[in-house]
Amino acid sequence: MLKRENKTDVIVVGAGPAGISCAITLARAGREVVLIERGMFAGAKNMFGGAIYTNAVKEIFPNFEQEAPLERRNIEHNFAILGEADSTTITYRKNNDSSYSVIRGKFDRWMAQQAQKEGVYLVTETVVRELIKEKNKVIGVKTELEEFYADIVILADGVNSLLAKQIGLRKEIETKDVALSVKEVIKLNKETINQRFNLKDGEGAIIEIFGGSMLGMLGLGFMYTNTDSVTIGLGITLNELVENNYRPFELLERLKQHPSIANLIEGGELGEYSAHMIPEGGYHKIPKLCDNGVMVIGDAAMLVNNLHWEGTNLAMISGKLAGETAIEAIDKKDFSKKSLSLYEKKLKDSFIMKDMHTYRDLMNIAHTRKKAFFSYYFKKINAFFEMFTTSDGTPKKENYHKFIKSVFTDRKLSELFKDIWAIFKLLWSILIWK
Ligand SMILES: Cc1cc2nc3c(=O)[nH]c(=O)nc-3n(C[C@H](O)[C@H](O)[C@H](O)COP(=O)(O)OP(=O)(O)OC[C@H]3O[C@@H](n4cnc5c(N)ncnc54)[C@H](O)[C@@H]3O)c2cc1C
Repeated sequence: MLKRENKTDVIVVGAGPAGISCAITLARAGREVVLIERGMFAGAKNMFGGAIYTNAVKEIFPNFEQEAPLERRNIEHNFAILGEADSTTITYRKNNDSSYSVIRGKFDRWMAQQAQKEGVYLVTETVVRELIKEKNKVIGVKTELEEFYADIVILADGVNSLLAKQIGLRKEIETKDVALSVKEVIKLNKETINQRFNLKDGEGAIIEIFGGSMLGMLGLGFMYTNTDSVTIGLGITLNELVENNYRPFELLERLKQHPSIANLIEGGELGEYSAHMIPEGGYHKIPKLCDNGVMVIGDAAMLVNNLHWEGTNLAMISGKLAGETAIEAIDKKDFSKKSLSLYEKKLKDSFIMKDMHTYRDLMNIAHTRKKAFFSYYFKKINAFFEMFTTSDGTPKKENYHKFIKSVFTDRKLSELFKDIWAIFKLLWSILIWK
């Protein structure tokens, strides 16, 4: 219960992985925290691919593997490059528990229930419309019905974060810095999934999909196995969809018809269709993370590592770090920007900012060389394997020479140099530059 009417230590807006992790961190330290969620329950409005990562979830919920509603333990990671009707796939089978597939409607709800058990005051079906400011400090939130006040407000309201925009922490998101993702959950029975994906009960597989219906656009497809359903989807930068006048669900339909995919989902029944945005701007687009009385976490802070499909783990750990910062600020009774900037320092010292920084140039380079890397080379990889695996009476040496010659004839030398330079620059920035 609140100490005074409508006044609490901390208000967290948004009960996704970031908000729940933040709120539970505060509640465990005995602070009073109100978590406000617009959905009917936590997770009701949330979707992802997707996999949650054991390491991050364990930091918040040490026993989640025994208690949480998990679908499958991912033991296989596939990288599939689709051509028109062919494909090349690299499969990695692993022997660890580093990720699980989950359904957000169930998993987020479970996390929120744990938070409530530990003292978080969860308010659902309530949209925060505005932040209340007094003397240049955020002091509360306005919902449709009432106002809530707090020493600190933490924004975990996801990729659009209208609230961070409203108080000038964030600019309008550019269409090239966000991907629009659509996905379907296709129901199939457990045995069929096990057989088609070569799995045993409880084991799961991930397929990351390149090319195919997304050929030439900056986007990726994905498949995840759940207990008795399969998730299939794709995400493409919004500017590409607009420029090319593509509708994402049509591209998803085409993806589902690819011979390498169609067999996996054949006979399945559509369970759910959803769409969501993914922040893609990377390190250079991270907004201001705090101000007097306010911090921003998770997707609202654009903390997504898109190369590795990591978002929930960055959300959860940024939530935890903001929670710890708030605890210290409450102890000091100092809610100023300076005091809350400890959150920035904690983020910088964690894997979150280190990884964001490592891939700081990735999106710029991907945007400038997308036609090469998301179209030409994918086609060439499939063409190489077609040549390598086909026996048509042509001597092999002749085939190799023809293939090598084709690289130099389809692509200008200057373009090839630009591609090599882009790869070199990217590797340099990932591996060497500080
Ligand atoms: C298609 C897709 C695939 C993905 N795959 C993966 C994956 O496999 N693994 C992975 O780790 N990450 C993945 N991600 C990214 C991951 O989903 C996000 O990074 C993560 O959900 C961010 O958590 P969050 O708590 O910051 O935001 P969200 O999960 O978006 O939660 C925000 C919450 O705030 C609520 N809210 C918003 N505005 C208000 C308001 N004004 N008032 C009250 N409540 C509000 C929303 O209802 C929501 O519950 C994927 C994302 C997408 C879209």
